[in-house]
Amino acid sequence: MDTKSEYLHPEMETLSIEDIRKLQLERLKATINHCMNSEFYKKRFAENGLKPEDIKTLDDLKKIPFTTKQDLRDNYPFGLRSIELKDCVRLHSSSGTTGNPTVILHSQKDLDEWANAVARCLWMVGLRPDDVFQNSSGYGMFTGGLGFQYGAERLGMLTVPAAAGNTLRQIKFIKDFGTTAIHAVPSYVTRIKEVMDQQGIDPKKDTKLKILAIGAEPHSEAQRKRIEEMLGVKAYNSFGMSEMCGPGVAFECKEQNGLHFWEDYYIVEIVNPETLEPVPEGEIGELVLTTINREAMPLLRYRTRDLTRILGHDCPCGRHHVRLDRMKGRSDDMMVLRGVNIFPIQIETILMQFKELSTNYLITLTTDGDNDNMTVEVELEDLFTDDYTQLEKLTKDITRALKDEILLTPHVKLIAKGTLPVSEGKAVRVVDKRKVYE
Ligand code: AMP
Ligand code: ZN
Repeated sequence: MDTKSEYLHPEMETLSIEDIRKLQLERLKATINHCMNSEFYKKRFAENGLKPEDIKTLDDLKKIPFTTKQDLRDNYPFGLRSIELKDCVRLHSSSGTTGNPTVILHSQKDLDEWANAVARCLWMVGLRPDDVFQNSSGYGMFTGGLGFQYGAERLGMLTVPAAAGNTLRQIKFIKDFGTTAIHAVPSYVTRIKEVMDQQGIDPKKDTKLKILAIGAEPHSEAQRKRIEEMLGVKAYNSFGMSEMCGPGVAFECKEQNGLHFWEDYYIVEIVNPETLEPVPEGEIGELVLTTINREAMPLLRYRTRDLTRILGHDCPCGRHHVRLDRMKGRSDDMMVLRGVNIFPIQIETILMQFKELSTNYLITLTTDGDNDNMTVEVELEDLFTDDYTQLEKLTKDITRALKDEILLTPHVKLIAKGTLPVSEGKAVRVVDKRKVYE
């Protein structure tokens, strides 16, 4: 492991599992004591007859009730803070589809630790102070903007806060500034490549790009591979969420064998989303995170809604921070169609097996007569043929492959490249127009 940076803590990254657990217990106890400064947790503990002293081991964490997004909404805006508002220096907020948005507060120490975590992730995949880092994600309330900005600066890179959108300008920056690394949501990376194609720019020859951080939205292994091949880069999966600060929660190392969750910052649990009991290691369940390094607004057993599984605790890279599988989706993204549970990522994985298809697709659910149906529109990579029979055959092959995966027959529509709307933030993959029966 390359350890030459005053900002990184290789000793934290290579802690043994026993030492990680020791540190976690210490930090958990301190966090719980600190949480007693929060009106919310003081009340929660009292209502459940719990005292901070009852948490003596990591296993005792299970005694603490879960914290949910609804709790954040119900206590909007500042109800979960554990320090005075005057000691907070930043807030981020994520807009919910219903009700109040959620608000996350940060102290200066929180922001410093956050920047360290992001710098650690970027260093892990080989970025160094002589790299040029272009952040092509939205700035503002979305944590992918400022989170990567401060992390990349902390590492010492020349950082270009390009933000999302204006793709022609993005490409000009990439060329003119010698950008070597980009952070963007995967769907936007595809857009950048499309515009490069239109401009006759070959990213492999005409740019210095080598490393991408892609994340903030679910994407398949196949989509990552596409991005890597298309741009001639290594693309690393980056996981974060506003409630846990933002990016920097987990990142792939060079082995690309799952996401290392930083266990000196978080305690990871995977539970069955219905029974809320822990699932056996290796099984898919809902990710639950406890912050153990936060000052302004620590969260205990936060239900993320993200579905994943533990892959292992060791890695050839030398880190023992737990490795989790790429997110399968969120429990609230699951579509139930004619009684079958389907995740958009299952559909993406099948589509990406067809080299004739691009990575842009949209799933629409409709009610037609008494039936609920699914239409999958997917853009063709290039109009590789205008032979109707060939296109018809391709449509049939895709339909059959999808049916094998999701057990339902969707309507597949092949459409021309650039037809689907491109969002500057997270891609919209599913539109549900079904009738709701009251
Ligand atoms: P936000 O708080 O708006 O940044 O959204 C956080 C959510 O984005 C997470 O709970 C995940 O559902 C999703 N997300 C973030 N990073 C990834 C990733 N690398 N893969 C899949 N989903 C992700
Ligand atoms: Zn590793």
